[in-house]
Amino acid sequence: SFMSSTGTFTYSAPEQELLCIFGTGDFGRSLGQRLLQTGYRVVYGSRRPHSCGPLPQGAQVMSHEAAAQSAGVIFLCVHRENYDFLETLVTQLKGKVLVDVSNNLKKNVYPEANAEYLQRLIPGAHVVKAFNTLSAWSLQNGPSDASRQVYLCGNSAEAKQQVVETATKLGFNVLDRGTLSAARELEDFPLQLFPEWRLPLRLAFGLTAFFFFYLLIRDVVYTYVEQDKDISFRIMVSLANKVFPIVSLIMLSLCYLPGVVAAFLQLYRGTKYKRFPDWLDRWMLCRKQLGLLALGFASLHVLYTLIIPIRYYVRFRINQTSVFDTTMAWRVDSYYAMGILGFGLYLLLGISSLPSVSNALSWREFSFIQSKLGYLTLFFCTFHTYLYGWDKFLRPSYYKWYTPPGYMLCLVVPSVVMALKLVILLPCVDRSLTRIRRGWERTDPEGDSKKSLLT
Ligand code: NAP
Repeated sequence: SFMSSTGTFTYSAPEQELLCIFGTGDFGRSLGQRLLQTGYRVVYGSRRPHSCGPLPQGAQVMSHEAAAQSAGVIFLCVHRENYDFLETLVTQLKGKVLVDVSNNLKKNVYPEANAEYLQRLIPGAHVVKAFNTLSAWSLQNGPSDASRQVYLCGNSAEAKQQVVETATKLGFNVLDRGTLSAARELEDFPLQLFPEWRLPLRLAFGLTAFFFFYLLIRDVVYTYVEQDKDISFRIMVSLANKVFPIVSLIMLSLCYLPGVVAAFLQLYRGTKYKRFPDWLDRWMLCRKQLGLLALGFASLHVLYTLIIPIRYYVRFRINQTSVFDTTMAWRVDSYYAMGILGFGLYLLLGISSLPSVSNALSWREFSFIQSKLGYLTLFFCTFHTYLYGWDKFLRPSYYKWYTPPGYMLCLVVPSVVMALKLVILLPCVDRSLTRIRRGWERTDPEGDSKKSLLT
């Protein structure tokens, strides 16, 4: 500040940092607008500085050479296919921070990451990979509307620091992923398609298809062949309302099976310091998705069950009166009660798996809900299914064409899981497992290391 001739103080604003953007396309324009709003000065480098489209107000535009010379940081908002024009700018780009924001349409199209290719093209520049996981849209609308996370990587710590400062000023959370060798991973982020959902979705689809055809044959085809009666209308509601709970219960028990398998594996090996096989690792990692899909199927089951009283087929049959049977009343009410309790807990499990909720829980609270209440849910739902079967397990007439009904098949996995869990809960087994999980090993570790030295 200085004293002006009139005697009042005027403050000369500190000179704003000038940043350069190559490319006046969608991304370049959105980025420039955000930078200008944050208080930076922006200069565009373009192939056609005099005829490019509308640019954010306040930005300058010039040739690539002139723009590069005027700024220390250059955002390269051009597709990888067009990087070759940079080769003519090698001298202007020397020592500059070159930010690569590019993505590809598919994975593995090029042998090396775009940012690594850029670094090879301009060895004298400090290439930083950043911003590629944002969209032009989210840049324009501000981070409150879209992702706040910016990933970055690069070989020069100072260059990265400059980009971190800019991104932070723009309102993003920055996560440094290390050297430029991480660029490939960052470039693959926007191309991911629900990777952790793939296995659970395939499983859900496979189980649904299997049980649909299994029940179609047992219910509809069997009745048609053996009794010459067409009950195909049952496909829409009755069959669906058998398939969905079956798939739901199997998927729920598959959430808890890998934990039990892992416990037995640790007991068998007598140590926790050996890696689990890959399939078990992958299975453990998708438990949340398995559980959420199971919850989805359970919700469908609830909705289908709610419409039972208004179905034409049911109202038609209700007119046939019979004697009141108290045992039957107990059975049916217990069956519904178990189902309702199971579903209530199911919902709690689903809600507590939401990141905002689970982040607010302590480790003990989370494991209380997901493990203790989870097993209780599995128990209620399994018991619900046993009550549905009641005495039908022993009556041969229910084994049409020598096949067991669908709900009997679906009881296998949950029953096994609960039986194994009971074994683990036995005090002697529980004690060994706890010891192993706190680092105790059955075999003498010294002897083991000697053995591994010999082989
Ligand atoms: P765009 O709209 O097609 O703009 C690309 C710009 O590159 C053009 O406007 C042009 O600017 C310049 N250009 C085109 N051909 C060139 C050549 N042969 N030589 C030199 N410059 C050339 O693309 P965009 O959507 O802005 O994407 C730009 C980069 O951002 C890409 O690498 C993309 O992967 C990345 N990205 C985009 C988004 C998004 O949401 N759009 C999101 C993440 C990452 P001039 O005419 O001024 O030279």
